[in-house]
Amino acid sequence: MFEKILIANRGEIALRIQRACREMGIKTVAVHSQADADAKYVKLADESVCIGPAPSAQSYLNIPAIISAAEVTDAEAIHPGYGFLAENADFAERVEKSGFVFIGPRPETIRIMGDKVSAKNAMRKAGVPCVPGSGALPDCHEEVRAIVRAIGYPIIIKAAAGGGGRGMRVVHTEAALSNALVITRNEAQAAFGNPTVYAEKYLENPRHIEFQVLADEHRNAIYIGERECSMQRRHQKILEEAPALGIPPRLRDRIGTRCADACRRIGYRGVGTFEFLFERNEFYFIEMNTRLQVEHPVTEAISGIDLVQAQIRVAAGEKLSIRQRDVVLRGHAIECRINAEDPYKLTPSAGRITQYHTPGGPGIRVDSHVYNNYMVPPYYDSLIGKVIAYGDNRDQAIARMRIALSEMVVGGISTNIPLHLDLLSDAAFLNGPIGIHFLEQKLANYNKPG
Ligand code: ADP
Repeated sequence: MFEKILIANRGEIALRIQRACREMGIKTVAVHSQADADAKYVKLADESVCIGPAPSAQSYLNIPAIISAAEVTDAEAIHPGYGFLAENADFAERVEKSGFVFIGPRPETIRIMGDKVSAKNAMRKAGVPCVPGSGALPDCHEEVRAIVRAIGYPIIIKAAAGGGGRGMRVVHTEAALSNALVITRNEAQAAFGNPTVYAEKYLENPRHIEFQVLADEHRNAIYIGERECSMQRRHQKILEEAPALGIPPRLRDRIGTRCADACRRIGYRGVGTFEFLFERNEFYFIEMNTRLQVEHPVTEAISGIDLVQAQIRVAAGEKLSIRQRDVVLRGHAIECRINAEDPYKLTPSAGRITQYHTPGGPGIRVDSHVYNNYMVPPYYDSLIGKVIAYGDNRDQAIARMRIALSEMVVGGISTNIPLHLDLLSDAAFLNGPIGIHFLEQKLANYNKPG
């Protein structure tokens, strides 16, 4: 096992990884920007290194600074967390070439899965069902028209290198195709440095359901159930649960087994997520995330598996200690992402937290790096923590979450707790399942207070 790991991230996930390391007796190095110098998890780390000024381009995305921090502290491995450099194949390669272990898949795997066209091809070959669609679209608009006619309107044009919900455009008619193609290509070039786009059948009202996988480098792979992530706005998830409502166990097992098979086939290593759209009882693969997810705790809650520790163990070359038949899913878990933002207008709300009280009680977990008097910096993602509620069943998990959020106090800034409380008593959510457009429609209809 490693003796020392550098955590190349910030916020709640840096603390989550640090806790896993401490439990395993591994020393930690926190790297931080100037804006995060006073963070408690930075102080709690065995060592810390400032890697640059507040803007992430100069700190959390600064590859040479992170590698030299690993060198000066003698760390053996680097955990990228999620976001920032977690799915950057060049970073993974630099880490390994500099003699450190990258806690994640091999750079080649990240590269294949980072290109959605090659990811879908690899998954199709492995027998994972995909959204019907094209490969990379050719330049000639006449040829594209023929390809899209064969798929059938409506379609969605997506950037092969896309991510974060950007670089996508829905096209309902042939008349709108040429224009949409040009715009999406230009956006893809500007945002991702790669103009390649592809087309997919646009599913009108699907759910977003994803499967968690865990694989070692000895070609052992398992899946650990699925998560429901349909509660989204601007393609960003805010509330997740496990298991997803009403998935027949045999269907779960069939899809999960295909995902685990695909991992063996591509030589996957680490934790990973297969994202699917789910409509009329069919799963359609859209993309794979080659990293730990924000919502991993709901899977931990129903499986009893510590995904971060498991991820570290397989990165150190260990064999998986559990087989598929050892994975037993029990109960129900819900996660609410607590964002520093106006709950209805969704504008970020940075600033000092003047009062802070976290909930507790049976089945409640709070993953957060903030504390009373903490200054939420304006430079990063608005996530300030996650509350996870576990119960024997969904009703109990929801009841516990409601109590937890009604007890929670975050003063001095705005948070989306009121929105969560509202969702937790919404009849459509309670009766579930809801589709991916539910939250946007609800927010659009909102009688905004004030
Ligand atoms: P990103 O990598 O940017 O997150 P994804 O391919 O995962 O992009 O898609 C993000 C979201 O966009 C999905 O969760 C879903 O809400 C929507 N979406 C993507 N593809 C389709 C599709 N074929 N039909 C309908 N909605 C889609």
